[in-house]
Amino acid sequence: MASKDKKKDNQKEEKWKKILFTIIPILIVIAVFVVGILINNNQQNDEKNVAYTQLIQDINDGKIEKVEMTVGSTSVKLKYKGEEEEKTAIVPSTQAFVELVQEKTQDDNTENDIELIQKPRNVFASMSEAIIGLLPTIILIILVILIIQMQGLGDKGKVYDPDISQDKITFKDVAGLDEEKAEMMEIVEFLKRPEQYTKMGAKTPRGVLLCGKPGTGKTLIAKAIAGEANVPFISMSGSEFVEMFAGLGASRVRKLFEKAKKVSPCIIFIDEIDAIGSRRTSSSGADTENNQTLNQLLVEMDGFDSDQSIIVIAATNRPEMLDEALLRPGRFDRTITIALPDLRGREEILKIHSKNKKLAENVDLKSIAGDTAGFTGAELENILNEAAIIATNKKHEAIKNSDIEDAVKKVTVGLEKHNRIVSEKDKKLTAYHEAGHAVVSRYLETQKDIKEVSIIPRGIAGGYTMYKTNEDKFYVSKTEMEEKLISLLGGRAAEKVALDDISTGASNDIEVAMKIARDMVTVYGMSDKIGPMSIDLEKDPYQIQLLGNNLEDEIGKEVKTILETAYERAQMLLRAHRDKLDAVALKLLEKEVINEEEFEQIFE
Ligand code: ADP
Ligand code: ZN
Repeated sequence: MASKDKKKDNQKEEKWKKILFTIIPILIVIAVFVVGILINNNQQNDEKNVAYTQLIQDINDGKIEKVEMTVGSTSVKLKYKGEEEEKTAIVPSTQAFVELVQEKTQDDNTENDIELIQKPRNVFASMSEAIIGLLPTIILIILVILIIQMQGLGDKGKVYDPDISQDKITFKDVAGLDEEKAEMMEIVEFLKRPEQYTKMGAKTPRGVLLCGKPGTGKTLIAKAIAGEANVPFISMSGSEFVEMFAGLGASRVRKLFEKAKKVSPCIIFIDEIDAIGSRRTSSSGADTENNQTLNQLLVEMDGFDSDQSIIVIAATNRPEMLDEALLRPGRFDRTITIALPDLRGREEILKIHSKNKKLAENVDLKSIAGDTAGFTGAELENILNEAAIIATNKKHEAIKNSDIEDAVKKVTVGLEKHNRIVSEKDKKLTAYHEAGHAVVSRYLETQKDIKEVSIIPRGIAGGYTMYKTNEDKFYVSKTEMEEKLISLLGGRAAEKVALDDISTGASNDIEVAMKIARDMVTVYGMSDKIGPMSIDLEKDPYQIQLLGNNLEDEIGKEVKTILETAYERAQMLLRAHRDKLDAVALKLLEKEVINEEEFEQIFE
């Protein structure tokens, strides 16, 4: 409670600051104007000042004896015949004025001779003159900058003053995601006792990239890490960097890290990092601005001292968009994918978010979890809120099963447009498709082991097959590439073999396969027919002259053969192991997600 009051006080203070910062510049502007007008009036009243038209007149009339000018200044000193006091005048163009005076002097009438003195530039005088001349402009510019900073950007206060969270969220508040939490435990340990790690000379973690759809709990888990380690959580969204004026993005990144260094150990959370971390381009304009921001982020991440215990957690839904530089060692070198929750995860999320709600005794969260395949944590939370509203409107004592079902319907109708409801038929198709990838890979020597197979929709894909990552490799053999193609086309092959129909679900697989097959022929020179050649007609159209006109046809034929062979082999494998294919698909339909052990069991 006390902390909340403090927050309120702070807000009040902020408000006053804002008002002050708005009023003061306005007052200064008015003052400058008033002073300016007064000075101007004064000058006009000054008797020593001669107007230019008057001056011309006086020159023509031969009243002037001497003119004194300074290079670079439009202000001239005049001595009138028979007068003691010197007068001044401002001339619009010094050159024109000099010509005019000289013309007069060259006139035959020697009476009209004017003594013309041209003094070298007085550096100090002209400088101060220039400064005085520019003063109003300078003041105005400073004021505009001040006002923009205080007002416009001040609204996004949490950017300058990153939000240091006070409500403690821990892993208990995060349902499911057990493996992810376990992986994050290491970071928690590090934040709790950074000295121990550094004393040992251990390379400390630095950046973690969380990938997943909006609402899957990326922010939540980042906050929970901070809560578990009991360190401040400083957050900012990538899009906030982008909206800003040129150059400010980078400086804001710098400020963010400065802030973090002050409160270290801590967590910096950057949501929507793709907004600043997209692939750098060499072009100009908005992109350059983005590049600067991204470069600054890289500089900051590289610049941590080993005694600064700052973990940067970034979230994105589009990891493929990110600049590779971000993913290098010492930056975001860990990627954790947050998938949509599975059946058990959904039930847990529903449980967590129904804690503060009045549920009727007989509410069956498990069955609701069963009806909500493909929902994110945020959507499930939303369903319970809707259910509470429906129950209130219907004047129920507590939230009933039917209220939640209504809420599910209400939310799904909104979602149906996005094709989110998974029909039984789609589920079966997806199950066979993913089982196809997994089973085919299982029988291929060079393919990675299966980590997880799922028919929970993710992104535009109906399901996914996750492979274990092996150690980094520099070279990929031809056999490995061929087998990769077989496992990629295993999804489509399974649809064909088991359901004798094919779907659009394989479009991405086929796109990737096509790219690999083409690269095999044109980049890695792996085709016997074409030979060991690197061909890029787009880059170098003259290769056609070198290599012959029907080269493109030849390449096309070769790519086609490679893909067809792979597709054939995938189907053969699946026909030979049809029982396994069915078993995996059935298991998927039953459990939605199967892990490594469950998958291997089928093959024992
Ligand atoms: P993201 O950052 O991935 O867009 P958020 O972390 O902002 O998602 O999630 C929004 C809300 O959804 C959270 O505040 C939380 O209430 C709920 N939520 C999402 N995932 C979970 C989860 N695994 N367990 C509990 N609540 C969740
Ligand atoms: Zn596929």
